[in-house]
Amino acid sequence: MSVMPVFSPSIPPPTGAEAPTIAHVALPVAVSQTFDYRILPTQTVLPGSLVQVSLAGRKHVGVVVGLSSHTEIDASRLLSLETVYLQPPLPDDVRRLATFVSDYYQSSLGLAFSLAAPPLSAQPTLPKTTAQPLVLTPAGYTQLSAHAAQLGQRPAPAWRALWEIVKAGDAISIAQQQEGTASQKKYLRHWFAAGWLTSADPAKAASFPPLRDEQRAAVHAVEAALGGFQPFLLQGITGSGKTEVYLTLARDLIAQGKQVLVLLPEIHLTPQFLARIHSRLPGVDTALLHSGLPDGERLYHWQRAAEGRASLVLGTRLAVFTLLPKLALIVVDEEHDPSFKQQDNIRYHARDLAVWRAHLRQIPIVLGSATPSLESYHHAQTGRYQHLRIQQRADPQAALPQLLLTPATHRDKPGATGKVADDPRRHGISPALWSAIEERLSRNEQSLVFINRRGFSPSLKCSACTWEAQCPNCSVRLVLHTKPARVRCHHCGHTQRAPERCPSCGNLDLLPIGHGTQRLEAALAQAFPDARIARIDRDSTRHRHAFGALHRQIADRQIDILIGTQMLAKGHDFPRVTLVGVLGADNALYSADFRATERLAALLHQVAGRAGRSALAGEVIVQTDFPNHPLYDTLVRHDYDGFANALLDERRAAHLPPFTTLALLAAEARDEHLLHTFLRDAHRQALKCDNPGNIVRIYPPVPAMLVRRAGYHRAQIVVQSHQRRALQRFLMAWRPELNALRTKQVRWAIDVDPLQL
Ligand code: ADP
Ligand code: ZN
Ligand code: ZN
Repeated sequence: MSVMPVFSPSIPPPTGAEAPTIAHVALPVAVSQTFDYRILPTQTVLPGSLVQVSLAGRKHVGVVVGLSSHTEIDASRLLSLETVYLQPPLPDDVRRLATFVSDYYQSSLGLAFSLAAPPLSAQPTLPKTTAQPLVLTPAGYTQLSAHAAQLGQRPAPAWRALWEIVKAGDAISIAQQQEGTASQKKYLRHWFAAGWLTSADPAKAASFPPLRDEQRAAVHAVEAALGGFQPFLLQGITGSGKTEVYLTLARDLIAQGKQVLVLLPEIHLTPQFLARIHSRLPGVDTALLHSGLPDGERLYHWQRAAEGRASLVLGTRLAVFTLLPKLALIVVDEEHDPSFKQQDNIRYHARDLAVWRAHLRQIPIVLGSATPSLESYHHAQTGRYQHLRIQQRADPQAALPQLLLTPATHRDKPGATGKVADDPRRHGISPALWSAIEERLSRNEQSLVFINRRGFSPSLKCSACTWEAQCPNCSVRLVLHTKPARVRCHHCGHTQRAPERCPSCGNLDLLPIGHGTQRLEAALAQAFPDARIARIDRDSTRHRHAFGALHRQIADRQIDILIGTQMLAKGHDFPRVTLVGVLGADNALYSADFRATERLAALLHQVAGRAGRSALAGEVIVQTDFPNHPLYDTLVRHDYDGFANALLDERRAAHLPPFTTLALLAAEARDEHLLHTFLRDAHRQALKCDNPGNIVRIYPPVPAMLVRRAGYHRAQIVVQSHQRRALQRFLMAWRPELNALRTKQVRWAIDVDPLQL
């Protein structure tokens, strides 16, 4: 085994005389070295080739990072490459991106490469949804009408339903493909594979609306930057027409045979975006990449992207690693969204990597948001990113919603008797919000209520003693869920039946304290028995297609009141909603998490700044006991810039990002003592690392915000610097020292640019 210089593009091409016999392979294991394998005479290997090898008796897929003709490994111990995959080798930009990930986020090279490798063990399978609406081809017409004639009156209903649609010249929409019966899906798959169906006809393209001045200026600015690296921040409220800008740019590039990569924060947003693509750019070959896809389907899409066949590649954070030979533009929509940051394994930020990839490819990148992250906003102010804005309204008639702040009710606080005086009818909904909902129902309009907690109530308490349902494995309360009545831990998944009496004093009177989505749903259903109520949170949308189905029900006005966590706020646009209620905002205002206010502001500005598409005037009601908080000031004025500037001032004063760079050594162990020993040693090593002028600040170990999770005690060391480079150099020096500590029973990870401390 040798520690290789990370693959370099200058590796000489194999020559006849000195053909390389040894491949240096990066494997998806934690250690940062490469491993040597013999190349068999029958094998053709290039830097970037994907190979299968054995290591310590286990098979791995790795990436060849270098070739040579010698190795220090003893010939008797040297193994051969078992399989060289037919996939084209990973190209230069993807290898450099993976190398960057390994350096910047402090992971092994092999693990970084594994992010870019497709699921090779799978067979590509035609996906359940092809990511495009399908129409009949001439061959399909001939074949299927012949079948229809043969079958006469007796075709299977599933078969006939599909045939009726395509025969009429209509497309089978993505939704129809997803929601069809099992046998319909089978038919579709066959027909598509046989070439009887194809993606919808380009001739039917819905025409683009004429762009407004600011949109046109944005398109021109990006087009002028094509062929070189330039990041853009496209700032405009939801509904201001950002997507039209992306699609116009995509149309022109695709017409020139180029590829466009669009990153979205959530799987749930992809169907809506696809629908937009297909109405504007029908017939454009689109690939869809997200972690919710079965491996075979992901491989199918991945290959179409990697071969340059798919012109538009739409995906969540992992898609930033896709092979894209003709890539000309990257778009990151909702760039402020925290889902772009991976929170386990390699803690990379897909937006930041997208910017780096654009740099590697020397192409422009557009980051779009109504509420830009402070990082991107700061770059736009300092000129690193070009700031594009859309301030005109798409529909000048549409008024911005009215904003009303009402006190958060405190009905759950014990009264003079020590009993909780909870108005069973209200459940945390203030009288103002309550009557506003009533009014919407009577006018047949839709309401949307946000609360950032799922379950029934965030806590279950005894009314007689101090007992409270606690997770046995974590330092948190258990959340009460109903239907079935269980208490659950939202951190480790622990769940048990809700106790009927207090385990400590036997009292039968246990009280749910606080409010979650289920509780609001129950309260509203009781108060408005005729209202059609839907709840959207992670519990209600576990199923892959549940969200899409709900979304359509909402759009079709089959739902009156919608209750949800912030999952609901992301990019969704429901034109018939005229009331938005926000509960629990105060939790974020005074959170220990330094980004909580930014996230709350993003949510509130998104809902309050939503440009109405309909003529219906909207209203936003925020329940808060701190109406004088500066956040609300800027919110009332719809002034996200004012908010961002104020928060940037705070961050500057507190030496927080984006004015400094942070990294975290997060550690956990079952044994508290071992944890503290490890962190003490880690801290001592940190102080010994080369750190000229103490340019990197090293803080002493502190307990994590969640002190215990899933039976593990947790603590961390924060390091911070005004110079990103210096912090990187420091981490490079510190990590080998951490690896050298005896840490069998301590799990640790370095989180660079952590979202939370
Ligand atoms: P965003 O991406 O900023 O949320 P969209 O691009 O989705 O905004 O635009 C919101 C709505 O306004 C869409 O229905 C879109 O078709 C429409 N729209 C956008 N730009 C124009 C325009 N220039 N003329 C007419 N309609 C437009
Ligand atoms: Zn008790
Ligand atoms: Zn737990």
